[in-house]
Amino acid sequence: MSRRAVVPVRDGRLPKGAADAVALADGEVILVGEGTRDAAEVLLARTTWCLEAAFAPGRLAAGLAPHLDDVDVVIVPASLDGRDLAPRLAAQMDRPLWARATELDDHQALLARIDDRVVVPVRLDGPCVVTVLLQGRAYTGSGGPVHELLPVADTGLEASQLSVSEPDVRDLAEAPRVLAGGAGLVQGLDDHEARQVFALLERVGEALGAAMGATRVATDAGWVSYDRQIGTTGVVIDPDLYVAFGISGAAQHVDGLGTPKHIVSINLDASCPMTARSDLGLVSDARALLVALAQRLGVES
Ligand SMILES: Cc1cc2nc3c(=O)[nH]c(=O)nc-3n(C[C@H](O)[C@H](O)[C@H](O)COP(=O)(O)OP(=O)(O)OC[C@H]3O[C@@H](n4cnc5c(N)ncnc54)[C@H](O)[C@@H]3O)c2cc1C
Repeated sequence: MSRRAVVPVRDGRLPKGAADAVALADGEVILVGEGTRDAAEVLLARTTWCLEAAFAPGRLAAGLAPHLDDVDVVIVPASLDGRDLAPRLAAQMDRPLWARATELDDHQALLARIDDRVVVPVRLDGPCVVTVLLQGRAYTGSGGPVHELLPVADTGLEASQLSVSEPDVRDLAEAPRVLAGGAGLVQGLDDHEARQVFALLERVGEALGAAMGATRVATDAGWVSYDRQIGTTGVVIDPDLYVAFGISGAAQHVDGLGTPKHIVSINLDASCPMTARSDLGLVSDARALLVALAQRLGVES
């Protein structure tokens, strides 16, 4: 079955999972959005088509569909924009959508379900759209031609914008920097005090352009909401910088870390698993260090 990746691009930046989608499509990709030419130079796919347009998923889906008619399996990264685009593309092309695939071949896709604890195989017996999760694949062939696709006409299919709400936190899954807190950050505090410390962690994170995350101990206790939980039963992240405040480094937590370029661990236990895997281990009280950091940054404690 023929395959092609469709990868949304913002300001020339590729989303997480772009390399996986292109690898699974054997190097055939349509880049859509803004800065597609710059993204094409980074991706170096076998064949690239660039559709330069503001990222408006309804309109893009309508504009892309004619370019994908002869493609059996359309592969989209399961990034924020990819999850926005893929269902519209499937509806536009009247195809099924298979979401969150971890593996894909000509016959079947393996879909991650129930917090990624269960893998469900589905048979691919016709044209479809598949979103794929970040798995660390890369297209290993050499880069080939880059073509332009014609701009997309306004089809009137776009939703109109009524208002824009400011996000209260940066998206954890996509954040390049993450500050995360665990039980050690709030040791000895009551629930009210613990929530205040996690709120401070979030403000310090904002000052550093980082998203706030937490361990399951923190979410189960209600110190932070479940959407902040990192791990096998939470969000899977893949930042450049991950800073762990009072986190032991249990397998279920670190399984959700991806492959951060740098890990900093602040822990009283110099030999805990998180410090053992860190680039920089600070044997220090996590809360005292957070407060000192907040003062340095001028963040109110
Ligand atoms: C089925 C299942 C699924 C799970 N899924 C997840 C998941 O998705 N995500 C997740 O995070 N967990 C998950 N867990 C829980 C996981 O096993 C661990 O219990 C949890 O990650 C531990 O969180 P923690 O590091 O905050 O706490 P702890 O393991 O208690 O570690 C606290 C750390 O803080 C340090 N410390 C103590 N005091 C201080 C101080 N003053 N300053 C600095 N450091 C200090 C300690 O030395 C210790 O290393 C799951 C468990 C199960 C059974």
